[in-house]
Amino acid sequence: MNRPRRRLCRFGIRQKVVLVLLTVLLTALSVSGWLVLRDMERNVLSETERRGVEMAEYLSRSLAYSVVGYDYHTIQLLLNQVVQTGDVVHVRVLSDRGNTMAEVAHPDREAVERVGFERPVRLNDGTVVGNLELELSIEPIVAQLAEQKESLIKREVLVILLIALGEFLVLSWIIIGPLTRVSRALESNVDENGVILRDIPVDSRDEIGELARRFNEMRAQLNAANQKLHGRVEAADRELKEAYQKLLEQSAALQHSNLELERLSLTDPLTGLGNRRAFDQNIEADMALFRRHGDISSLLVLDLDCFKGLNDTHGHDIGDLVLCQFADVLQGHARETDEVCRLGGEEFAVFLRRADEDGAMAMAEKLREAVEAMVVNVDDALKISVTVSIGVATLSTRLRITSALALYKAADQAMYASKQAGRNRVTHYDSLIAESLTPATHIA
Ligand code: GH3
Ligand code: MG
Ligand code: MG
Repeated sequence: MNRPRRRLCRFGIRQKVVLVLLTVLLTALSVSGWLVLRDMERNVLSETERRGVEMAEYLSRSLAYSVVGYDYHTIQLLLNQVVQTGDVVHVRVLSDRGNTMAEVAHPDREAVERVGFERPVRLNDGTVVGNLELELSIEPIVAQLAEQKESLIKREVLVILLIALGEFLVLSWIIIGPLTRVSRALESNVDENGVILRDIPVDSRDEIGELARRFNEMRAQLNAANQKLHGRVEAADRELKEAYQKLLEQSAALQHSNLELERLSLTDPLTGLGNRRAFDQNIEADMALFRRHGDISSLLVLDLDCFKGLNDTHGHDIGDLVLCQFADVLQGHARETDEVCRLGGEEFAVFLRRADEDGAMAMAEKLREAVEAMVVNVDDALKISVTVSIGVATLSTRLRITSALALYKAADQAMYASKQAGRNRVTHYDSLIAESLTPATHIA
């Protein structure tokens, strides 16, 4: 993680500012140096010019009478002398007709840089009698200028280096130091809860100090907001948990109520037996098993005899008592695999799984006897006995009794047959067939 930061720092603010400064300084000093050199060159050249003009003036005056008198010897001597001294590299005297009267060139200074001057040779009255050409060497001046240029460049380089060094140190002290402190302070400054841990330890009065102060103020505000937010989140979390808990409890209660409701919707409240709906549900699978595998089962429909009279004589409550005891008798005789239910009123049903005609008739007879023997002890003086008429039907493909409804109808019809035959008896639906009833028509 540290590596990219270090790579970035290689060309950071310090380096950039120093680079810009160096460029500006180099340009400024180059321009100013060039201007200084140009002035210097101009001054030196004008000085040479002045000297050359003076020398030519003086020489032309000295030569005037020798030229007018055609004194070639004196002119030659004078020119030799002039070339021996100073910077003169070439001198020539021309007559007023333009003929060269004398000419001398310095033997060692053939190739040097030079400047030329030309003056008319005049007598004192101003008459022009000839012309003088004079060339001066500017080699020392060029050498001097080169030297000055070199020293100027050295000075500038030194100045630039010193300024760059100074700037580097000042930048490090004033900007980079505080910035580094800010950067270090920001490193790993936030904990896992989003709290900003430390202030930035910069107290300078410049922009960086201002930045640090603003950050520190913001840190306090952010931490306070964060704390408030955490508080709210925790409270919301608590509320949510409580609401969730309540919801769970309500859901459990609702589930319990639904189960209770389901149980109640399937239970007869008086006797606690299953009701008609429960009965239909419970035997539906047995119908399918019969249709698929031929698993035979039978149904008993039981109706108390003359119950209306019992109610009328002893009252409805005692009638209820009889119904409850009757239900207990049925339940007491039923096997675990049997289904006992109250179909409605004083009519009950017992579904006997895997019971054929004979088994069902035996069970029906046993129940009839048990009911007949049942005594309801209302009080010491009143003991009530009842009888029951029972109809029996067995699932049969032959008789087209293959559904719960068909089975019920057959058993009910047999029960009515028991009633008609005098009550307190058992009749199997099959026996009715024997009395030449068309079963299909009859059941439908
Ligand atoms: P049968 O021998 O032909 O069956 O005559 P019954 O009097 O038993 O038949 P009926 O259908 O004429 O009368 C049934 C009576 O059952 C009428 C009603 O008062 C009574 N009953 C129905 N449900 C209840 C109940 O929940 N409690 C009490 N106590 N009586 C009931
Ligand atoms: Mg009855
Ligand atoms: Mg009845």
